Amino acid sequence: MIGSGKWHAEQAWLGRRAENVLIEVEGGRIKSVAEDMFAPPDAIALKGWTVPGFANVHSHAFQRLLRGEVESGASDFWAWRERMYRFTDWTAADYFKHARLVFREMLEAGITAVGEFHYLHGHGNELGEALIDAAVEEGIRLTLLDACYLRGGCDGRPLEPEQMPFSDGDADTWARRVDDLSDSDGVRIGAAIHSVRAVDPESMRIVATYARERGAPLHIHLAEQAGEVEECLASEGCTPAQLLEREGILGPDLTAVHAIHLDAPDVALLGAKQVTVCACPTTERDLGDLVGPLQALARAGCPLAVGSDSNAVIDVLEEARGIDLDQRRVLGRRVLHQPPELFAAATSNGMRALGWEAGELKPGMLADFVTLDEARGVWRELTPAYIVYGLSARDVTNVVVGGVTVVQK
Ligand SMILES: [Zn+2]
Repeated sequence: MIGSGKWHAEQAWLGRRAENVLIEVEGGRIKSVAEDMFAPPDAIALKGWTVPGFANVHSHAFQRLLRGEVESGASDFWAWRERMYRFTDWTAADYFKHARLVFREMLEAGITAVGEFHYLHGHGNELGEALIDAAVEEGIRLTLLDACYLRGGCDGRPLEPEQMPFSDGDADTWARRVDDLSDSDGVRIGAAIHSVRAVDPESMRIVATYARERGAPLHIHLAEQAGEVEECLASEGCTPAQLLEREGILGPDLTAVHAIHLDAPDVALLGAKQVTVCACPTTERDLGDLVGPLQALARAGCPLAVGSDSNAVIDVLEEARGIDLDQRRVLGRRVLHQPPELFAAATSNGMRALGWEAGELKPGMLADFVTLDEARGVWRELTPAYIVYGLSARDVTNVVVGGVTVVQK
């Protein structure tokens, strides 16, 4: 994804609305952005609204298989998880094929970078490498968040048999295995602590140190379920967020996924440390998760991002508006976040959480941009509010990653 060329956008979002925007790309990065320009003959015309590429900060590609498979029979998160475990056994060849389809669906939804929170380690790095190969093949940026997963719960109980393939045995072995993976064009290796349930405090520190020594993104599932908070209180005498603070894990390089069951001191802690919070509204709905205190987190100082997580739905705009719409039904009020904040969650905040210099159309940034157009042909002036609330993944017509066109409809 190191392309060059010129694109001429009818309307583009440059932090404000601009018309007739000429975007010049060299070596995969934006060289210049100029508005009110005539289209030169060698420029590719982009009709509609051109915006920065969307970031999908939290995905488990394999869970795409559960779509439509787990919607009958009553259950809760833990029962869902039992069924999800049946979909974790893959050969590298099958996982490569599957991941290609998932990444293609993401590209067609305007996602130019994805964070794969990866814990299927039954074959060492084989499935991680399959994800890398699939991303390279399809042309999507990948941050492989390789997750350390060591135990069955906060009380230190052993893994269940179905969880065994997720584990490396200990954090040092996890680090040695991850060392065999390396960054390449369009691929970054990041680290993840699966959760406070699955990783003991000492091992958490090893993973965090590993990420920080390399300047790599660090992610964790945090307080998605009340059960995790109860377990943590019983074993550690503090909440999961407080445990992360105690162990020195919180920081602006950390992304906490879900962050639902938090009390006011937890919110203040995460905000003070500027931890990015990744909400996954469509998956959280699907799993019957409650709605997290996202407005309070944003006010406290947490940048927000979004992820498609289980991939029951792949639509970053639906996730972004879900941040606000889900809270409306809990709080009985409207517009808890201003549209530019939701737009940033879908773009710049997410790119930062994945370690990419993208998410804004300006010189020096990676040349990732997405064009949306309404089939109905209604001419509207581009605003973040209309993009977030008026459009969806289906309205994406053109996608460029690193100056290479990967979707053209
Ligand atoms: Zn997850």
